[in-house]
Amino acid sequence: MVILEKRISEEGIVAENDILKVGSFLNQQIDVPFMDALCQEFYNLYKNSNITKVLTIEASGISAATLTALHFGVPCVFAKKSHTTNLSGNLYKSEVYSFTHKCTNIAVVSQDYLSKNDRILIVDDFLANGAALSALIDIVNQAGATLVGCGILIEKLYQGGGNKLRQLGIRIESLAKIKNLYGKNGIEFEN
Ligand code: 5GP
Repeated sequence: MVILEKRISEEGIVAENDILKVGSFLNQQIDVPFMDALCQEFYNLYKNSNITKVLTIEASGISAATLTALHFGVPCVFAKKSHTTNLSGNLYKSEVYSFTHKCTNIAVVSQDYLSKNDRILIVDDFLANGAALSALIDIVNQAGATLVGCGILIEKLYQGGGNKLRQLGIRIESLAKIKNLYGKNGIEFEN
């Protein structure tokens, strides 16, 4: 999506360890109308799929997932990254390695919020190695729900997670696809 690629080119900062920082509009300060325009695109892509819930993982996926859920008129559910005291009852759980924080967490969703009748769209900000998406897909499967597809704002193609999951038949729509990050500010997109 041209507007997203332009914004990444203008404001993105390539940090060490292949991390792209987009804190000025997405990861810390959120440009809400801009984010909403991106989420409208997820709606356009999946509007005929009878989505009943949008699923993401805390923290950085929540803003995009919430705005996307608003377009669909459905709830947004987010997986918590640890077993906190305000989660009770039966839980779906899946292990997830965090690429940015270099640690393993447990993604946890209460069984009250996903069921076999749900048709799920997973939304996240970044797709790199695919660990976060795999954990969310695992949770959808544990619930016996239907995974309709995934909507990703920024996919780093060279880390391979997206293509691994596409080979399993999972529909993944990414609004900006990065072929390579070079040095400080070299960002190459796939057209
Ligand atoms: P994966 O699990 O696919 O390896 O990584 C996806 C998760 O890690 C996303 O939920 C995102 O929060 C974080 N992430 C991965 N790569 C980047 C990056 O380059 N920049 C930022 N800001 N987050 C990233």
